[in-house]
Amino acid sequence: MTPDAISPPPRSALCVAVLGAGLMGAPMARNIAAAGCQVSVWNRSPDKVLTLAAPNITVAADPAEAVQNARVLVTMLKDARAIAEVMSVLPDAESVPETPVCWLQMSTVGPADMSGLKTLADRKGLTLIDAPVLGTRQPAEAGQLLVLAAGPDSTKEAVQPVLDAVGKATRWLDTAPGMATRLKLALNSWVFALTHGAAESLALARGLGLDPELVAEILRGGPLDTPFFQMKALAMASGDFTPAFTVDNAVKDSGLILDAAREAGVRADLAEAGLNRYRRVQAQGRGDADMAASILA
Ligand code: NAP
Repeated sequence: MTPDAISPPPRSALCVAVLGAGLMGAPMARNIAAAGCQVSVWNRSPDKVLTLAAPNITVAADPAEAVQNARVLVTMLKDARAIAEVMSVLPDAESVPETPVCWLQMSTVGPADMSGLKTLADRKGLTLIDAPVLGTRQPAEAGQLLVLAAGPDSTKEAVQPVLDAVGKATRWLDTAPGMATRLKLALNSWVFALTHGAAESLALARGLGLDPELVAEILRGGPLDTPFFQMKALAMASGDFTPAFTVDNAVKDSGLILDAAREAGVRADLAEAGLNRYRRVQAQGRGDADMAASILA
């Protein structure tokens, strides 16, 4: 059942299910709870949810239990395949009297995945809102993500408390799912270009007998600088690859960018070269390292 208008429940009564408590899902669940929502969280590996203990967070044994009383469902899972696997175990719309109505799909997927997700949403009686996020682990912890959103106007009021809890702003782009995911890939294309550019610049400096930190020092505060560049350059120079965004997910997203570019008739040479760099890092057994590990390629 997909109602035309979904009235926002009082924030204190808003039950939110979060499926996926990885690097991003865990802090997002914590922030949604901190905003006064009742959160039911599920993760495939149960050990990751143990750290989420809080008065208004319950840990569900399976995805169906997590969504039982939820009005809003958040998925923050690895990819479209994981989402399909997890969502398929939820009861179909006709077999439950009340289902969570709004599905905030916040994982990064590709435009080509959208129709399958929409079909899944319809089967489960959910209204799909395409809502990927910009920002990595630290902004997720601080509730400072930028949410890109595309979904029916009728859902906006109902989901806004959740979006406000995880993000500093929401940019609504369209009333049908799809455009937010497209923009997310275009933005990730820039994120990867910046990361690989920094990696090659620092690696070249080191190879030429210089301290790689000089690159970050000389650029600091100038027109070519960004806080992201400084953060990643520091990780690259120090070799601290504690993950904020893993190489494994960077491989996944680089592939999504290439697929989308191919479909759009756009050459994405940098994304292709970047994907090869990340695959070389994976081959070193560092798939769980931060994306800054591009310098190891
Ligand atoms: P992550 O730490 O790798 O977490 C991935 C999550 O997906 C975990 O909960 C994992 O469960 C689950 N998962 C993977 N395969 C599964 C399957 N087959 N069945 C059930 N669950 C499965 O990734 P993340 O950094 O939180 O990112 C989550 C999503 O947000 C990804 O789409 C990513 O591209 C996107 N994103 C990430 C960032 C970032 O900076 N990290 C920023 C924006 C968007 P287990 O714990 O059991 O492995």
